[in-house]
Amino acid sequence: MRLGPTCRLSRRSLIQGGLAAALLPALRSSDAAAAPALTPLDPKEPAAASLGYTTDSATVDGKAIPNHAPDQKCANCVQFRGAASDAMGGCAIFPGRSVAANGWCKLWASTDSSMPE
Ligand code: SF4
Repeated sequence: MRLGPTCRLSRRSLIQGGLAAALLPALRSSDAAAAPALTPLDPKEPAAASLGYTTDSATVDGKAIPNHAPDQKCANCVQFRGAASDAMGGCAIFPGRSVAANGWCKLWASTDSSMPE
């Protein structure tokens, strides 16, 4: 590749950029390996219990908590940090902890802005 006189890219910057691009996949995989494991959240822990966290949304008493709907689950909560196919995933409300994809708590909020909360 021949650079024109107005081009400000130096051969050094191109080589450095190429090296960075070559090393990026290795850095990404080491980041993933270094990510701390999440500890599953126990529904009996005070913080979890105060928010009514359960590992199974189907067990929520709809009479006691009328805002709960059967289709509300951690997996479709805006706070869930797992992939759609994950059985467990992180939660922004409980840093360092994982919650069940089928779980639920009183802070559930839809990822779908058109869905009633
Ligand atoms: S905030 Fe959302 S993802 Fe976190 S425990 Fe509650 S319902 Fe689940």
